[in-house]
Amino acid sequence: MARTRRPLIAGNWKMNGLKADGLALAKDVAAGVKQAGWFDREVLVCPPATLVMAVAEAAKGSGLLVGGEDCHAKASGAHTGDVSAEMLRDAGASHVIVGHSERRTDHGETDATVRAKAEAAWRAGLLPIVCIGETLAEREADRTLTVLETQLKGSVPAGATAAKLVVAYEPVWAIGTGKTPTTPEVAAAHAHIRKVLGGLMGDAAAVRLLYGGSVKGGNAAELLAAGDVDGALIGGASLKADEFLAIAKAA
Ligand code: PEP
Repeated sequence: MARTRRPLIAGNWKMNGLKADGLALAKDVAAGVKQAGWFDREVLVCPPATLVMAVAEAAKGSGLLVGGEDCHAKASGAHTGDVSAEMLRDAGASHVIVGHSERRTDHGETDATVRAKAEAAWRAGLLPIVCIGETLAEREADRTLTVLETQLKGSVPAGATAAKLVVAYEPVWAIGTGKTPTTPEVAAAHAHIRKVLGGLMGDAAAVRLLYGGSVKGGNAAELLAAGDVDGALIGGASLKADEFLAIAKAA
C-alpha cells in the first residue's frame, strides 16, 4: 500500500540559541535539506520566537520549514510577553507546537488552553503540532492510554482534519532523559491515538503522528519504524545539524 502520510521531522530548539549560533545552525540544517532534496519527507525547525524571522530568511529556497514553539490563543492585545499565531505567521512560520509538556508544566497549560491555541493556529493559517504524553507515574500506574485519550479529547479542536493537525506523542519521562519507550510501547500508544482520533474526526488514517522523547541519530531508525509513527519531534538532538539531519535521513 502506498504511504500516504509524509514523514515530518521537527526540531524543537526550546530556549536555546542566540542570533549567531542559531543562524549558523539554521544555515547548516537548511544546506543539508537543500542538498538532500527530499520530496518524500518534511523537515521543520522551531526556534525561539526571537529567531523565527531570521531563521525563516535563512531557510528560504532550501525546503526547510520553520515553526514557532508556542503561541497565544488571541490574535493581539494586552498579553505582555506573549506571541500570537498571526505574529509567527508574519515572521515566516508555517507550523506551531502547542501543548508541549514543558508549557503544560511550567505555565499550567490545560487541555482547554492547548485546544484554544490549536484553534488560533488555524485562524492564522499555521499547522499546529499538538503534544500529548503521560508522566512516569501515569505510565507506572498503567494509565498511559487513558491519559492520552483524555488529552486528545480535550486538546484537539472540533473540525480537525488530517491536513490541519499533527499530533506528537511525547512521554514526559522520555523528554531530555535519554530514556525511550520500547518500539512496541510506542506502536501501542500511536495505534491508540489514531483510534481515538478516528472517533473524534471520523477518519484519522491520514493524520501524522510524531514520536518525541530522546530521539537521536542512533535510535531514530528503530523508533521511526514503529507502527503508526510518521516522524519525530526532537529537542536536544535538533541543536546539532549533523545529528538532526541524520534523524531526517532515517525517516
Ligand atoms: C522535546 O522537547 O520535544 C523533546 C522530545 O526533547 P528531547 O528530544 O531532548 O527529549
